[in-house]
Amino acid sequence: MTPAPGSSAPVPENKPGGANQPLRVAVIGAGPAGFYAADHLLKQDDLNVEVDMFDRLPTPFGLVRHGVAPDHPKIKNVTKVFDRTAQNPKFRFFGNVTCGQHLSPADFRNHYHQIVYTVGAQTDRALGIPGEDLKGSHSATEFVAWYNGHPHYRDLKFDLSQPTVVIVGMGNVAVDVARILCRTIDELKETDIADHALEALAKSKVKRVVMLGRRGPAQAAFSLPELRELGNMQDAQVRTILPEVELDGLTTKHLAETPDATAQKKADRLRALADAPDAGTSRDLTIRFLVSPTNITERDGRVAGVDIVQNELYETENGAMRPRATEKTEHLDCGLIFRSVGYLGVPLEDVPFHAKWGVIPNEKGRVTDGESQEQVVGEYCAGWIKRGPSGLIGTNKGDAIETVKCMLEDIEAGNVLKPEHPTADAAEEFIRQRQPAFFSYDHWRSIDEHEINLGKETGRPRVKLTTVESMLEALGK
Ligand code: NAP
Repeated sequence: MTPAPGSSAPVPENKPGGANQPLRVAVIGAGPAGFYAADHLLKQDDLNVEVDMFDRLPTPFGLVRHGVAPDHPKIKNVTKVFDRTAQNPKFRFFGNVTCGQHLSPADFRNHYHQIVYTVGAQTDRALGIPGEDLKGSHSATEFVAWYNGHPHYRDLKFDLSQPTVVIVGMGNVAVDVARILCRTIDELKETDIADHALEALAKSKVKRVVMLGRRGPAQAAFSLPELRELGNMQDAQVRTILPEVELDGLTTKHLAETPDATAQKKADRLRALADAPDAGTSRDLTIRFLVSPTNITERDGRVAGVDIVQNELYETENGAMRPRATEKTEHLDCGLIFRSVGYLGVPLEDVPFHAKWGVIPNEKGRVTDGESQEQVVGEYCAGWIKRGPSGLIGTNKGDAIETVKCMLEDIEAGNVLKPEHPTADAAEEFIRQRQPAFFSYDHWRSIDEHEINLGKETGRPRVKLTTVESMLEALGK
């Protein structure tokens, strides 16, 4: 008998997770939530577990590779932790395998006792205003995936010949996009930004970037270090406008009643930027507050500008500060606009989904049926597809651990799937039939080494391979 994880009750030897029968787990999505979930499962000394991780891309690490800004190399160091997880002999990676295309959820149910969906949030929220589909209007998420070399986005085109770019939203993604547009090519070429993006940004004619926030400076969603970092750009000045950065009466009262040092520091810093003398830089980033776009205007079939309404704040019954449109409007000329108002999860075929929230309905990570709200046996979720697109990379650790705790409780209760083919060999044989061109973790190690070597030739951390073909070529296939 093997003692059960986190409890004194043993898992019987012949039950999944016991000495004679490994618990087979499929983790779908190789981003931080997937790796943290795999790691926590594999760390359970008393659990006989095997983890197969899948990703639709040949490479692992999800948003760490394709979302974290190229000028934030330290954040990417977390992949060393994921590498250690992948070294566990009970862990296997199957990249270039898409759930819903190569393998269906039913196929996973046939081969695994438990399935964890960690697929993240793959699309973005829309603004819902006229003109949003014009040429020159894009989601920030597409731009981020493009400059980070995501194979599905590498061929997108952004018209960087435009002098003025508007970014709607005040989160860290909006700040990332603003920085990438404002940095000099010398700054960017020291990073692992995709080659095609480096080439396009080298020809950029962008002079002015304007971020639009619908609420005030104390409500800005970006973090304080990200705001501070904007002051370190080589050839771009950050500005704010008075009176937009003066705290309104409600916010002042709010901060007096419920002190929030970070919000206060952000507000103070943004206020100080309003008085900054002209630094004579070639680019300019203006951070605007209490404004919302209402209409994207058109000339010759493409974006020509944006109509804006000024907002005021009001307090809701539960104390939240919300924006409300005033009568005051203005127009801003711009040739390119990015909406950066949040990522959004997409449904997986045959898996419950809450369309409005863009998440898989769940109870602490246990997938629940959307209608009956009963647990869907053997199915779990973690990360953004569980809680929505919020938090930093580390937030996914606690989130994944919460899910794994539920999985362990269910193992102990014997409440797992009863797959017809619960062996590693059967799963691999099946995957080979469906997707012979899958990538293993050893393949990733070779690609990683190849990219780093390419980078050495040009003094960069790595040169990313951005097509499946170039990755196969690097592997000699
Ligand atoms: P976010 O932090 O949720 O910010 C979304 C922004 O969009 C907010 O300013 C929000 O304003 C605004 N917004 C939403 N709907 C809007 C609308 N209809 N009109 C105008 N503005 C609207 O999302 P994110 O920037 O996509 O980032 C996602 C997560 O990744 C966050 O947790 C973020 O911190 C994290 N991240 C971290 C880093 C980093 O650590 N460097 C980098 C990138 C992303 P309201 O506040 O008024 O709703």
